[in-house]
Amino acid sequence: MERAMMNYQNIFLSSALYLSVIAALFYVLIFNVLPKSKFEQEVFLTKKQQCLKSNSYMSSANWKYLRETVLKIQGDRCLCCGKASKNMHIDHIKPKSIYPHLEFMVDNLQVLCPDCNRAKSYTRETDYRKSDHLIALVREINENKLLQKKYVYDYETLERLAKQRFNAELGTKKYPRILPLT
Ligand SMILES: [Zn+2]
Repeated sequence: MERAMMNYQNIFLSSALYLSVIAALFYVLIFNVLPKSKFEQEVFLTKKQQCLKSNSYMSSANWKYLRETVLKIQGDRCLCCGKASKNMHIDHIKPKSIYPHLEFMVDNLQVLCPDCNRAKSYTRETDYRKSDHLIALVREINENKLLQKKYVYDYETLERLAKQRFNAELGTKKYPRILPLT
């Protein structure tokens, strides 16, 4: 009887040992070996994709379309200083390095001259658009299905800001300076 118990105990202990070795191997495989190789692959792909992205960025169809649209709506003068130059910049009000989801959003773009754009850099988020630029954009969005579908981040916020700036320019309310997109 005692011997049989000992046998059972041995079987139990050796199976427990066996199972824990398998569990440890699985643990190493799942949490250490696989993620590392996957991670490295992802880093490699991301770098490659980033490189491809930055090369194709300015010439991309999206950007060309947005540039034309913004110039059509806001005109070809700098919204900050009023100067016109040959090579006007289309500035991301909220910098694309910090808000990558707003990169191709028409409600985040404004026309600046190269000097003003350089001065603003990617550290400031100054929105130079007046109510007439915002109202023109709201009107364009309402008439343009493609713009509506692909390039507008937050229509309600844009419309609200247009109204607030319009009222402020009439001298009745405080001027909202910040583009309230997040
Ligand atoms: Zn300027």
